[in-house]
Amino acid sequence: ATMPPLLSAIATAGRHGVLVKSAVVMEQLGRIDAVALDKTGTLTEGTPRVTDIRPLAASELGEEELLTLAAAAEHPSEHPLARAVVDAARARGLDLPAAEDFTSAPGSGVTATVGGRAVAVGSPARLLHGRTGHPAAAVAARLEDAGRTAVLVEVDGVPVGVLGIADRLRAEVAATVAALTALTEAAPVLLTGDNPRAAARLADEAGITDVRAGLLPQDKVAAVNELERAGRKVLVVGDGVNDAPALAAAHSGIAMGRAGSDLALETADAVVVRDELATVPAVVALSRRARRLVV
Ligand code: ADP
Ligand code: MG
Repeated sequence: ATMPPLLSAIATAGRHGVLVKSAVVMEQLGRIDAVALDKTGTLTEGTPRVTDIRPLAASELGEEELLTLAAAAEHPSEHPLARAVVDAARARGLDLPAAEDFTSAPGSGVTATVGGRAVAVGSPARLLHGRTGHPAAAVAARLEDAGRTAVLVEVDGVPVGVLGIADRLRAEVAATVAALTALTEAAPVLLTGDNPRAAARLADEAGITDVRAGLLPQDKVAAVNELERAGRKVLVVGDGVNDAPALAAAHSGIAMGRAGSDLALETADAVVVRDELATVPAVVALSRRARRLVV
């Protein structure tokens, strides 16, 4: 027998490096008319690097001590920012003490007990909430103005330093945004947990004008629901634990596989295995062709 069009499309998608989980999903992908993209790990390569290590003067910590504390706390996390911090510590040959009582709050950061001290690493906006005059806020703002993601480190509730982390835009972003815009006749929106300054700078390079920054996982869901209430069928593309609820809520969800979290991969309808963002519009186009053949 000849292969039914949707199964044949799944096979073709697979050859292009996209794992589409079912024929139903393959069919639905062709119906999307709006796209919401995550930033870190989706528009960016997902291999961010620590570029700045700024202990606060009052902390009396050295750069290596600050990095050691942060990396120890981040060690259990699978977030790309956590891996950047751990890799930076390893690259300097630092020994990481064990972390206990690890917790992570998607879209905001991690906490752990390191050597008896309560260490928190995460979004300056969230950790400094209500302490906008703190010297750490100014350090973070300068890094963010330079397009970095700033990560605050606290010990026992006291800010001790800030790390600057930078990630490169994927080479194919502008072409992908243009292709998605043509397919849906609407510009994609950027949904990110990162700070508005870094997000705006990157969106500009990517050719995206609709940017929602500082979002928690449930805020991403709310943004998707709002579009769907307006009658759109939304495709969410993301990679993180923080994207999983939006991937589940959307008409269709595609996860970036290489740096993606297990939860995102399991929740999504399809997974980009070969780590090329340009396969996202390709698979939507593939679905549309297959649907025209299904009678
Ligand atoms: P995005 O939506 O762009 O993929 P996330 O929602 O994953 O970003 O993260 C949003 C913000 O939360 C980050 O910019 C960072 O400030 C903070 N954050 C989340 N997880 C971590 C972590 N493991 N370590 C440090 N900061 C984190
Ligand atoms: Mg992400």
